[in-house]
Amino acid sequence: TVSVVLFTCDLRLHDHPPLRAALDTSDEVVPLFVRDRAVDAAGFAAPNRLAFLTDCLADLDAGLRERGGRLILRSGDLAEEVAKVVAECGADTVHLAADHSAYARRREDRLASVLGPSGCAVQVYDTVSTVVAPGTVLPASSDHFAVFTPYHRHWARQTMRIPLAAPRKVNVPEGIGSEPLPARRDITGVSPGLARGGETQARARLTSWLRSGADAYEEGHDDLAGDRTSRLSPHLHFGTLSPVECVQRALRKGGSGAEAFVRQLAWRDFHRQVLAARPRAAHENYRSQHDRWRTADAAREDIEAWQEGRTGYPVIDAAMRQLRHEGWMHNRGRLLTACFLTKTLYVDWRVGAEHFLSLLVDGDVANNQLNWQWSAGTGTDTRPNRVLNPVTQAKRYDPDGTYTCRWVPELAGLEAPYVHEPWKLPGLERAAIGDYPDPIVDLADGLARFKRARGRA
Ligand code: FAD
Repeated sequence: TVSVVLFTCDLRLHDHPPLRAALDTSDEVVPLFVRDRAVDAAGFAAPNRLAFLTDCLADLDAGLRERGGRLILRSGDLAEEVAKVVAECGADTVHLAADHSAYARRREDRLASVLGPSGCAVQVYDTVSTVVAPGTVLPASSDHFAVFTPYHRHWARQTMRIPLAAPRKVNVPEGIGSEPLPARRDITGVSPGLARGGETQARARLTSWLRSGADAYEEGHDDLAGDRTSRLSPHLHFGTLSPVECVQRALRKGGSGAEAFVRQLAWRDFHRQVLAARPRAAHENYRSQHDRWRTADAAREDIEAWQEGRTGYPVIDAAMRQLRHEGWMHNRGRLLTACFLTKTLYVDWRVGAEHFLSLLVDGDVANNQLNWQWSAGTGTDTRPNRVLNPVTQAKRYDPDGTYTCRWVPELAGLEAPYVHEPWKLPGLERAAIGDYPDPIVDLADGLARFKRARGRA
């Protein structure tokens, strides 16, 4: 017998339940990845993620070849391509991981209806991309948790499955055609500092971070210059790491840093269970809120200054330049820049979310859209009107300005108070910062506008 394993956002060999099930029940397995035309058409295939994906596919193929197999790559309409492969190899089952966006659900339904007439079954597996599947833990009277803390309490009590070892051998049938793997160098518009993808990189990063980074995580995770977070988000996004394995290895290591890290992984599941229950939250306010955001046209200059990192608020500019350079941004930077765009400039969160998705290597519908909503106060934040002041936050999380000057070199050499408030430099010393701009908005004015808009003036 033959079965197909359809890889999507689970590009790994370790702890892969669909692959294990296929190997246990079939003589031969076709490991398949389809470059889905619908994802490209939806504009979701940003260069940074495509480049990272090519690394992941190359590494997955290499891992399969070490085990006697290879990756089959196709592109086009996903369901039709799968159906073609099923017909070519005579598979009786397609195994794939569950995913929770509206798009992923449609993909599953379409696969089932296209494959139905051939008699080929579709088997979908939970807890490949999440630790706890959406819908597993529920509050008394709703289809999802809207508040993180009670969700986390239930999440932490769940019994987790034991992570699976990578297979030793994968037998792939002869004669199944594959497109050549794409090359990273053929993708244009990639951020110069983009990390490398692939399961090998991911596992090495997890091991080294648990060994030498996790202990400092609890107190260091907000330290912008220290860069003490795991940087595992792109690996979790592409599934080169199993979240179940991450949690179990962190819990085995123990300590408050590892526990704080596990809590962040629960945030990841939290957003997925919100999105699974409210798929429209990817585009519409989760909480009904009558914001009359400035339109993209009215705020064009402010939006461009924010995107390009020249708002005149150094920590905001540093974070936005880091995003452009690396395709990644520190969580504290994401919180500050999102709050600044939505609450200080009063621009619609969707404008910011779209810009992030065009650059973020970990850009993810659940995490990006719902964290944007959280920051804009239209989502699950229980204090939706809180506003983060970029100057006080910068003094707290980048006290000597190291992070800021790393990304805004115009300010290098300034003493600590001025690096975060260069507009306070005495007249003659202003020449030192060249054409670094004055602030595009007065923070007090921005706050007053926001309070008025939310009816709190
Ligand atoms: P660590 O601090 O090491 O955390 C470990 C893992 O926990 C992360 O890799 C991530 O998978 C998960 N995690 C951490 N914080 C969150 C969170 N707030 N919500 C959900 N999961 C979390 N994360 C994405 O993965 N993709 C996105 O597109 C994304 N967009 C964001 C947009 C905004 C406006 C904000 C405020 C946050 C966003 N985040 C997103 C969440 C968070 O900023 C990143 O997951 C984190 O910065 C990644 O760095 P790390 O791997 O070093 O995180």
